[in-house]
Amino acid sequence: MKAAIVKQFKEPLVIEESARPTPAADEVLLQIAACGVCHSDLHLAEGDWPQMMKIVKTPLILGHEVVGQIIEKGAAVTQLEIGERVGVAWIHYACGACELCLEGNENLCPKQQITGATVDGGFAELMKAKASHVIKVPAALTSEEAAPLFCAGVTVYRAIKKARIHSGQRVAIFGIGGLGHLAVQIAQSSGAQVIAIDVNDEKLAFAQALGATHCINATTEKTVQRMASLGGAHLCIVTSAAKAAYDAAFYSLRPGGAIAVVGLPAEPLTFPAIAMVGREAHIYASAVGTRQDVRDVLEMAAQGKLQCQIETRPLEQVNEIFAEMRAGKISGRMVLKL
Ligand SMILES: [Zn+2]
Ligand SMILES: [Zn+2]
Repeated sequence: MKAAIVKQFKEPLVIEESARPTPAADEVLLQIAACGVCHSDLHLAEGDWPQMMKIVKTPLILGHEVVGQIIEKGAAVTQLEIGERVGVAWIHYACGACELCLEGNENLCPKQQITGATVDGGFAELMKAKASHVIKVPAALTSEEAAPLFCAGVTVYRAIKKARIHSGQRVAIFGIGGLGHLAVQIAQSSGAQVIAIDVNDEKLAFAQALGATHCINATTEKTVQRMASLGGAHLCIVTSAAKAAYDAAFYSLRPGGAIAVVGLPAEPLTFPAIAMVGREAHIYASAVGTRQDVRDVLEMAAQGKLQCQIETRPLEQVNEIFAEMRAGKISGRMVLKL
């Protein structure tokens, strides 16, 4: 099978023939139709995350927004049939038996396997996956539309779900990229009034077209003052990887408001305790999502409430996509079409 492989961190991916994977008894083999390209794939290829590097395999096939058709299955797989279309998310496997799994937080399972990191992912023609952790894709969605929902979609879905937004509350989204434009739609469909913040007018116009009621360009406007004039945010979702976005988000909260940590700046976040206490600010993080979160977000999209802006490219262009990603030139989501 053809695959794009990380052989050396910080080097371009090598596109070459690789051995056909053999599914174990509890696995299925997928003929991949589409795989989204996430910023995390670039971070992994660059060896950016020291904690992750201890568990990442090499050589490695990246890709954790995978949709494909089952073409082979192991002897113990009874709940899936050959020919079914399924997807695979970042959480490749969770044990199902530990304290966190039993609490419904399988995304935090200490025994988890990670697609395209600790096991091979979807930048390839074929991939094996755990039958227990693949998720059926609704017929209303194409494979290319569905793929980005397996990471980008579920990540913002869970971040917003955790905030338990009420109708009419103000949700500010910092960064209208691959994740942010999905966050605008998910927040809006939960009844929130959405405020979009970015440094790019085109992305802000896009957010407005998706239903954002206010748009703030952080380079030409004073974000904190504008947010204060709107009454402050009940929830700030920061998808941007700029620390400055977190600083602005913190002072954009109304008292009792919350920041959802989604974007990952390299430097630590710092908030003064006195200001946190004075306004009872909440700060919480969200880590991708569970299988149920993925099913929920796929269902939202199948009902037409959520649409990811995508551009499809062949596998051979993956290194060019990474170059565009480094330069911040991608809007929406790039999806490899296999
Ligand atoms: Zn991802
Ligand atoms: Zn577990």
